[in-house]
Amino acid sequence: MQQEYFERYLVEIRKKKASTARHYQESMRKISQVLHQLGYLEFEETLYDIDSYYDLKRIEDILKSNQEFIDLDERGNRMYTAGLHRYMEFVEGQKFDAVPNPLSLIDCPIPIHYNKKVYAKEVPSRDRVIVRQVLLSEKFLCESNTSHSTFTSRKYRTPYMEGHHLIPMNLQAHFNVSLDVYANIISLCPTCHRLLHNGIRQEQKPVLKRLFDERQDRLVESGIRLGKNEFLEIVAESVKVI
Ligand SMILES: [Zn+2]
Ligand SMILES: [Zn+2]
Repeated sequence: MQQEYFERYLVEIRKKKASTARHYQESMRKISQVLHQLGYLEFEETLYDIDSYYDLKRIEDILKSNQEFIDLDERGNRMYTAGLHRYMEFVEGQKFDAVPNPLSLIDCPIPIHYNKKVYAKEVPSRDRVIVRQVLLSEKFLCESNTSHSTFTSRKYRTPYMEGHHLIPMNLQAHFNVSLDVYANIISLCPTCHRLLHNGIRQEQKPVLKRLFDERQDRLVESGIRLGKNEFLEIVAESVKVI
């Protein structure tokens, strides 16, 4: 998950002071160090690089039962568990329902991490924290048509929806900021998602136009600038059939 998003979550949604947010960042750095020592992170990775929700839950349990971490935390007046706790609240989207469009308050340009794995593969992506947060923030509704209903996911016990990159990740090279951002991830029911990958252009077009209109301002906030016609052109060429 992006460090920039966590910082903005603390300030914009949790209404913390910038100095408090910095304090939490310090905790996150220390936790990353501990995870390195325990062998759970690879070289140069930080806690933010763990983008699977279930991996993060597992890491949280490991830390809470690790004596070295418990001692360190006690010496640091519990600032590390406080930081971890806040981070998990962010990951789980706590207080997202306190404002109408929570993620639009957090949108910001995110640098491209060239050394990271590229997530061009979308399925299964529901375990990814960023996708999960988008689905939560959209209240598990299909953004193409909010009346579309699905079924209850066995794993998550929420309505089943999927995350879709409006501008496909395979176009990343054309942009100087990350496309793997809140503003570019759409919550869709499986039928609408399949339409955008497998449907004929004529049926895709009205849906793409509508989704683009709804997200354009947020894409700009995230440093992603392109016009609607350009969008329709490049997307038609590059969406992979899955
Ligand atoms: Zn997709
Ligand atoms: Zn739908």
